[in-house]
Order: sequence, then structure tokens, then C-alpha cells
Amino acid sequence: MTASPRTVAVGGELPYQIHIGPGLLAEADLLTRAIRGRHVLLASDDTVAPLYLARVQEALQAARPELKIGQYIIPAGEASKTLDNFGGAINALAALGATRDACVLALGGGVVGDLAGFAAACWMRGVDCVQLPTTLLAMVDSSVGGKTAVDIAQGKNLVGAFHPPRAVIADTSALRTLPVRELRAGLAEVIKYGAIRDPLFFQWLQAERAALLAGDDVALAQAIARSCEHKAEIVERDPLEKGERALLNLGHTFGHAIETAQGYGAPGNDNLNHGEAVAVGMVLAARLSAALGMAPAADTETLRDLLLAYGLPVAIPAGLAPEALLAHMRLDKKNIAGRLRLVLWRGIGKAEVVPDVDEAAVLDV
Ligand code: NAD
Ligand code: ZN
Repeated sequence: MTASPRTVAVGGELPYQIHIGPGLLAEADLLTRAIRGRHVLLASDDTVAPLYLARVQEALQAARPELKIGQYIIPAGEASKTLDNFGGAINALAALGATRDACVLALGGGVVGDLAGFAAACWMRGVDCVQLPTTLLAMVDSSVGGKTAVDIAQGKNLVGAFHPPRAVIADTSALRTLPVRELRAGLAEVIKYGAIRDPLFFQWLQAERAALLAGDDVALAQAIARSCEHKAEIVERDPLEKGERALLNLGHTFGHAIETAQGYGAPGNDNLNHGEAVAVGMVLAARLSAALGMAPAADTETLRDLLLAYGLPVAIPAGLAPEALLAHMRLDKKNIAGRLRLVLWRGIGKAEVVPDVDEAAVLDV
């Protein structure tokens, strides 16, 4: 059975739709609907481009021969989410002669989405961006909600902008070429939605593990749609992360610290990728919550068991000193006035921002 396409609406000041289904990257109608002007920059990475870029470009060009389409391809991996490559994307827009009605198409995972989205946010103070996510993580998280950014030496995502996409088109067929390690990383973010606000979804994820890990189309489409509904609901109410949206960061302060301390994951190294670091981070946040008496210890074990069953790491990688991680956590954007502000939880289905967490308790876990 193949999944039929579905749509999730994201409301708010700049509403848009998330289309989810098989084969959507070749659907010219859907692709061109979001393009207003003549200039299109197709941004991608050197793993995804050989797989999917031609089909997108051909669909666009066949439907709209007048389009002027440029390409900007970065090396795959987090190490490419830099100010240099941001400049490269801007130069590509300039070389294309892009005007204010230009459209940037971000074809790839969260790295391409964040970088290309940021370039779209800045070119002529903001042009359209359509997200074409090709990793599970990008489909359920990074392509939705309008956060765009690049990394600098001091930390991840420290330079960026809020710039909602004009549309998100998630072609679930693209997941067939995704390495299973990347699929698992995306599933970590899917599990996060269950952990912070949906106990029934959490149970469904316990039951559907085999299907999801096997790449079952129908199960994956269901997981993506449910995750996008959650993200849409949250970003609609809190687009600029003044409150509730912060809950989406469960496990992320710990996770970002691991990513920064270790150096980022990339094809060819063993460093944790984003989803894996978040899996470890969620376990640490849950343990800390239990230690502070906020959550039942049994729930912490249930979450850990589920992540483990999905083949995700649940402990800090060997060789990383807790003190070094804490030092990175102190630099987190969410902190206010030098106090450690963390997303903790109350057990499966409920998370909460705690503004002033005791550093000694953090070191303990
Ligand atoms: P990624 O973009 O590096 O993709 C992971 C790997 O998979 C890359 O090597 C890529 O080339 C490859 N790949 C992508 N699609 C493929 C496909 N269909 N087939 C085969 N290979 C494929 O990483 P990611 O996990 O997608 O995203 C992580 C990034 O997203 C991080 O930079 C993180 O900060 C960011 N992020 C942003 C937000 C947000 O709200 N903006 C949310 C979560 C994460
Ligand atoms: Zn994340």
C-alpha cells in the first residue's frame, strides 16, 4: 500500500501548507504554485543533488520554460552550515540576477534548509523560500516553523532569522535513499513530539517501531503528518519562541552541547548527528527531571527504552567531560541573565520550561 498525499496547514500571520506524500518532487503543479517570479535558486548538497535535483529542475522547466533556474550545491554535512556558504548562496542569487520576487528552493536535509532559508531571508531583505525536505528530520522538524540559521565557532545556529517558508513539499519517496542512521535521527525528533505533548502518539511509536524502521511508506507518512500537526500547532501560537515553542527544545540544550564539544557529525566521522545528540539530550533532561522530583523515574526509563529500541544512543559519548558540556550549555541562546534555562518534563506527554536550573544537579546527571 502506498500512502496518499496529505496536507497540514500552518496558520498565523504568514500561513503556508505542508504537503506530504510519495512522488511530490516531480509534481510540477505543486512546485510551480509557490513560485511567483522568474528567478529560482535551487539549493542542495552534493549527496542529494545527484539523486533528486534533476527531477525538480526538469519538472519546473517543463511547466514554466521562462524560469531562470540557478543551482547552489554545498558539500553534505553540518560543517557546510557556515557564513561562507551563506555568502556563496547570496552570490549565486546575485549571479542569477534574482529580483525581489525570486524563490529559493531548499532541496535537502536541515543543513540545506537552514542555510538556504537564511539566504532567502536576507536576499533583498527577504524573498520566498520553498522547503523540499529530503531527510525525515527535515520533514518533521527543520523545514517547518521558519527558523533559519548558520553555525559559527561559538556554537550552532547563532546567526539566523525567522523566515517562514512559502510552502513545504515533503516527498516521502525520497526517504528510500536515506541511510538508516539518518532515518533513526529523524525518528528521535518524532519521538520528541510524543514525549512532550502526545502520550497516545508515544504509544503508537512503541507499537509501530518495526514498520517505521523498515521504512514503511504508510507508517512514515503517518508519523510525519502527526509530527507536522504538532509543530504547526505550536509555531502558529508562538512563532517567535516567546513561550510554548521552547518546549520543542526538549533534549536540545544537552544535545547542542554534545554536538559543539564533539565537532559536528558528517559522512565519514563517528560524531553524533543532530537527532542522535537530541536522543541523548532527551534522556539527560528526563533523568534530571526525575532527579529534581518533577517526573516519575519509570517514565524516564520508558523513554530511554524506546529510544534504545529505535537504535538511538542514550548516553554521553565516551571522552566528553560533563564540565565541558556544561560550559557549552551556559552559552545556550535560551539562557536569560546567566541562568541555565532548560526544557524539563513531567513525564510522558508533558514538558515544561524551567528558568533557573541548578548547575550541580545538571553535572550530577
Ligand atoms: P543533513 O541536512 O546534514 O542531512 C543528513 C545527511 O543525509 C546529509 O549527508 C545529506 O546529504 C543526506 N541526505 C539528505 N537527504 C537524503 C536522501 N533523501 N537520501 C540520501 N541521503 C540524504 O541533516 P538533517 O539531519 O536533515 O538536519 C540537521 C540540521 O537541521 C542541523 O543543522 C540542525 O541544526 C537543523 N535543524 C533545524 C531546525 C529548524 O527549526 N530550523 C530544527 C531541527 C534541526
Ligand atoms: Zn532538533
